[in-house]
Amino acid sequence: MMKKIFVLLLGVSVSASSFSQDVKKDSAVMKQISNHILTNYQCYNDLRYLCKHIGHRISGSPQAEQAVAWGKETLDKIGCDRVFLQEVMVPHWVRGEEEASVIVKGKKSGIHIASLGNAVGTGEQGITAKLLRINNIDELKRMSPDDVKGKIVFFNFRFDQTNINTFESYGPCVYYRWGAPSEASKMGAIGVVIRSVSSAYDNKPHTGTLTYNKEYPSIPAVAISNLDADQLEQTMNAKKEVSMYIRTTCQMLADVKSHNVVAEIKGTENPDEIIVFGGHLDSWDIGEGAHDDGAGVVQAIEVLRVFKELGIRPKRTLRAVLFMNEENGLRGGKKYAELAEENHEKHILAIESDAGGATPYGFSMEMDKDKRDAIKSWASLFMPYNVWSFDREGGGADIGPLKRKFGTPIMELMPDSQRYFDMHHSDNDIFENIQRRELSLGAITMSQMVYLVSMHGL
Ligand SMILES: [Zn+2]
Repeated sequence: MMKKIFVLLLGVSVSASSFSQDVKKDSAVMKQISNHILTNYQCYNDLRYLCKHIGHRISGSPQAEQAVAWGKETLDKIGCDRVFLQEVMVPHWVRGEEEASVIVKGKKSGIHIASLGNAVGTGEQGITAKLLRINNIDELKRMSPDDVKGKIVFFNFRFDQTNINTFESYGPCVYYRWGAPSEASKMGAIGVVIRSVSSAYDNKPHTGTLTYNKEYPSIPAVAISNLDADQLEQTMNAKKEVSMYIRTTCQMLADVKSHNVVAEIKGTENPDEIIVFGGHLDSWDIGEGAHDDGAGVVQAIEVLRVFKELGIRPKRTLRAVLFMNEENGLRGGKKYAELAEENHEKHILAIESDAGGATPYGFSMEMDKDKRDAIKSWASLFMPYNVWSFDREGGGADIGPLKRKFGTPIMELMPDSQRYFDMHHSDNDIFENIQRRELSLGAITMSQMVYLVSMHGL
């Protein structure tokens, strides 16, 4: 009996000490990763190149193809086991020219607009019509079509400034960009103007994709800045009749061949278990796509680079993916999941960084409770890096198809969101608005999470 208890106790003490040695080793490697990235910050230099030498890169554009070539070349230099492209056909929307003015009692004053992505243009002549202000969708639905017919609807729905996590404000607001234009068309409107889906108080309009409901005519739709929207609101409050002239020549061209860029380091013990992480290579066609999503792209590259440069050999396979066409089609994310199915690949985790390059504080997740608990058991290892939040729900758009097809656990890096929607999809999203250490911290947090899962599984 004594002997049995002794053996039992010994067993406990051995596993406890190997556990604490694991923790010590993990925390030492995590610190090494952090020191390395903070003193090299190659991801920041990569982002400078992507933003300043290639610039914005909407799907189908020559810049998008330059970004593909740059991504492949950058990953080739790291010395991964495999770098390859996945062919994917993408939509090719072009902005063309755009001009607009507000007309009060015959007097025109110019207003800065940005067509919404995938929108149709007005034709060369432009459109002029009375403006109908709608503060929320219920207000529109209560109206009679006679009141809407032939008008330009101004959706004046505000970004809620009271949420600390600004992504909570984005959700309700973004409907007015992607869905509401067709609701206006259904009621007979001939055009739509939206208040930008943005937290910023400045005069930059923010673009972003819309989806037409094909049951109704596709009508032109543009965004105006929050300051211009305030001004327009005041003008409409003061005068009974306000009209608007809009001329846009944006159009959807034929699909273009493009690519996802993929690079991997093979696992030493379980090479069939793949941990995928990435961001999207395409951006909107204004600004430089620095936060959205140049940051995620260079962070994903940095994960592989830090493993190689520190000589860390993952037990499971690491794969960085630079997805194409997240913004106006998600074709790259869908293609990646299709090919994963075709190739019978097993993804144990997918991580996306597509919420900007600011200081990270956690990960949102969509996965079973046991897997979430496994990740949360590492929380104390992240505390020294001010990364503490593991309870929010959410993954990334590009890895959504993996989740839907295979039930793959997905997660997204969560950076501080205070400035993101000031810049997102506008001329403000430029390299200068990225801070070197903040961007590097995102790469560090991603690398540390990838390291833990690559060693311990999920
Ligand atoms: Zn994005």
